[in-house]
Amino acid sequence: MTNGLGIFGGTFDPIHTGHVALALQVCRQLDLAQLRLMPTHLPPHRTSPTASAEQRAAMVQLAIADYPSLSLDSRELVRNRTSYTIDSLREIRCEAGEQTPLFFILGMDSLNALNTWREWQQLTDCAHLVAVARPGQAWPAETSAVGEWLEGRVCSDLKGLAQACGQVIRLDADFPQSATAIRSALRSGASDHDWLVPSVADYIQTHRLYPRDT
Ligand code: ATP
Repeated sequence: MTNGLGIFGGTFDPIHTGHVALALQVCRQLDLAQLRLMPTHLPPHRTSPTASAEQRAAMVQLAIADYPSLSLDSRELVRNRTSYTIDSLREIRCEAGEQTPLFFILGMDSLNALNTWREWQQLTDCAHLVAVARPGQAWPAETSAVGEWLEGRVCSDLKGLAQACGQVIRLDADFPQSATAIRSALRSGASDHDWLVPSVADYIQTHRLYPRDT
């Protein structure tokens, strides 16, 4: 087991079984003892209805309750303003120390759009990036800004990963779950969804989240 720390950012609106399965897969493949799920503060333009920051954090905690290697990192929610990944990773790097390998997990769609992120080329100064590809999702084209930047940073041999940050790793995952599909099913009148952890489904019902469209 490495002493590495995984950070999995997302909106988690709501968290689903795909997020949990992915977090566990990353822990297993990278030999991580710990992985934190870090919900992002939602930008104001995001379409409603959405769960509040507090509710999204509560659902994450319920979903991961059975897994000691997973925990909630609520730093971006408590900031209550647009949060930038680079700021969070710098904070976590300071807390974890220079030697701890950090792994920031993001979807392949996010890797393709990485050049729209604040200080994107500095992200690997703080952490390794773990880009998760769903079936059919493509790696950035070599001629794109991200593709050019990736050259020389991609690690294909996980066992040889000695540094605490600086590399980009590709992992493939095949989980069909999507929060958009869950919200849409609940808004259409479903009372539950197979992709929800039961305790999260109960929470959604109790708090009347994602109410049926009228
Ligand atoms: P939404 O449908 O609202 O965009 P989502 O299901 O993609 O939500 P997010 O909270 O945005 O969930 O997910 C956080 C990260 O997890 C994103 O980078 C996303 O690409 C990734 N992710 C979510 N679901 C899966 C899945 N089933 N397989 C692999 N990656 C996933």
